[in-house]
Amino acid sequence: MTQFKCWTFRARRNGIVVSLLACTILAGCQRRETAPAAIVHWNRNPLTPNAMAPLPLGSVKPQGWLRQQLQIQANGLSGHLDEFWPDLGPNSGWLGGSGESWERGPYFLDGLVPLAYLLEDQRLIAKAKKWDDWTLENQRETGAIGPDPRKGKYAREWQATDWWPNMVMLKVLTQYQEATGDPRVIPLMQKYLRYHLEHATERPLVQWASYRWAEEILSIVWLYNRTGDKELLELARALRPQAFDWKSHFADFRYPAKVTKEQISLKTHVVNNAMALKTSAVWWQISGDETDRNAVYTLLDHMDRNHGQANGVHSGDEHYAGLDPTQGTELCAVVEGMFSLEQLLAILGDPAFGDRLERIAFNALPATFKPDMWAHQYDQQVNQVMCSIDKKRNWTNNGPDSNIFGLEPNFGCCTSNMHQGWPKFAAHLWMATRDEGLAAVAYAPSRVEARVRAGVAVVIEEDTEYPFRETIRMTVRPAKPVAFPLTLRIPGWARDAAIVVVGKREEGVKPGTFHTIERRWQAGDTVEILFPMPVRTETRYRGTVAVLRGPLVFSLKIGEDWKKARGQEPHADWEVHPTTPWNYALVIDPQNPAASISVEERPLGAVPLSPDGAPVVLSARARRIPEWKLIAGSAGPMPENPFRSTETEETVTLIPYGSTNLRLTLFPRVASGK
Ligand SMILES: [Zn+2]
Repeated sequence: MTQFKCWTFRARRNGIVVSLLACTILAGCQRRETAPAAIVHWNRNPLTPNAMAPLPLGSVKPQGWLRQQLQIQANGLSGHLDEFWPDLGPNSGWLGGSGESWERGPYFLDGLVPLAYLLEDQRLIAKAKKWDDWTLENQRETGAIGPDPRKGKYAREWQATDWWPNMVMLKVLTQYQEATGDPRVIPLMQKYLRYHLEHATERPLVQWASYRWAEEILSIVWLYNRTGDKELLELARALRPQAFDWKSHFADFRYPAKVTKEQISLKTHVVNNAMALKTSAVWWQISGDETDRNAVYTLLDHMDRNHGQANGVHSGDEHYAGLDPTQGTELCAVVEGMFSLEQLLAILGDPAFGDRLERIAFNALPATFKPDMWAHQYDQQVNQVMCSIDKKRNWTNNGPDSNIFGLEPNFGCCTSNMHQGWPKFAAHLWMATRDEGLAAVAYAPSRVEARVRAGVAVVIEEDTEYPFRETIRMTVRPAKPVAFPLTLRIPGWARDAAIVVVGKREEGVKPGTFHTIERRWQAGDTVEILFPMPVRTETRYRGTVAVLRGPLVFSLKIGEDWKKARGQEPHADWEVHPTTPWNYALVIDPQNPAASISVEERPLGAVPLSPDGAPVVLSARARRIPEWKLIAGSAGPMPENPFRSTETEETVTLIPYGSTNLRLTLFPRVASGK
């Protein structure tokens, strides 16, 4: 009965404060299905203060094209994978069965939980809850969680007692707790982490766990901020000596190029490195040591210089693969890199991480999926002119089918781990700031509902077609007039950005900073933002140029022939062959690209992240390079640059990288006068 009252009350709520009060006052009303848990938890003493705090899952809701994208995801593999993929079927060890019992169940949930609650999709919520409930109801007396190691199926013997999959499950449970307030989560985590402390010495982190230990530290910090239990910090300190030392790895970085097969190890693994982006900052919260904070920048400097790609990620197919745009990047590294940046934004509060997050989210992430999200690649290439099964491909160690679009190309880790990319991006667009305000750290159509100064509930509607358009309109709706700071990230590329607050233009708006607006906000106050997006270029690998507009990278649109390779639709495996030429050099002045490139904005349709749905289309001038040919399924070695060409000049079409399946992104230039 009390639960019924709570639901009734919630239906009439006018802000999360009300819903929180309602649920607190009505004793016995313990379970909520979709309400945000309202309270932001800051780092407690003695932790290093975090710059910003992520809002509880459910506080930020995607709108517009972003909601549409999450819906495409829900209608594709993410919403159906468990219905036919045995590793996530009813026999999973994470549902009490004797099937797959290592990382795949938790990986899947790490994306399914935020996807389900952000869309408020009851079908997906019911799916996720079945898994959450199993873990919550099957904790052992000892405190251990997860599949029964005597019964489960493991590829390697050590996996039966591995801490790693539990680290992912803890991240799942923290999200689920934020979305629902389920009172079972915190006691389970307390008991489990005490169990880990008791056994930390006799059963140290091994293999992947020792490279990915920061994932557990995130949950330790999450719980410590809620309970203040000092034993948790003791556990964190016990894990540190068992963990791989990423700070030292990058202080003396020895992998300036694509690694050889002999050099391959867990420290050269692209997913471990994408997760390690955040490790030193996560640990800095506990150590307070400035060298830990600085280590983040040392890592990025080495990785960008030696393995950076135009789509915002680092190469790794699946180990360090250098700057050549025909090398691949594994999908797990894309979504883990995004999650790392979301955590870095919160901990360090550096707006540059927002630029980088958008670069990956709007380019690398969508490009590596079939537009209907029923298939994905293992490896994507920045210059990807054919997706095919080819034994001769130039990967460091991946298999012949790594760049086809399929259910499980090369290996099934990405099949289970890819789901977190879009929903976590949506959930982290907004964060709480230390001065009791809100910050827009990345931009996309959304609605945020949170408490600001004096506990006043505020809704901000962000109406935009960014990143395809230059303008964003925010409408602020506090429950009552309230003074609080609204902080906006000004992207590093956004020269001449303009912000107009209720008709008045802000002064001192600078690219690459957070701009804070302090005012007493009334319901209906508007903030209009203009981020001018002239076409610009970057010079990259061997003097090639990449063309950009705002956070979007642009690529040559290549005609596609989708050939079914195997499997059953809709989740079949596909090769994609080019039907139009790709071997072009651009006729472009890198200092003045607008002179040779024109921009056309097209209406956003049902699938903007598809070749035909591209909402921005550029026309550029180019000449063919007849001797630049396919080698082993990829564009052959980059031609001399600038390229001297007597071929006829043509007009070519460039579309957003994220809208492509085949693409040329790094172009040689035609030498001037030729
Ligand atoms: Zn993977």
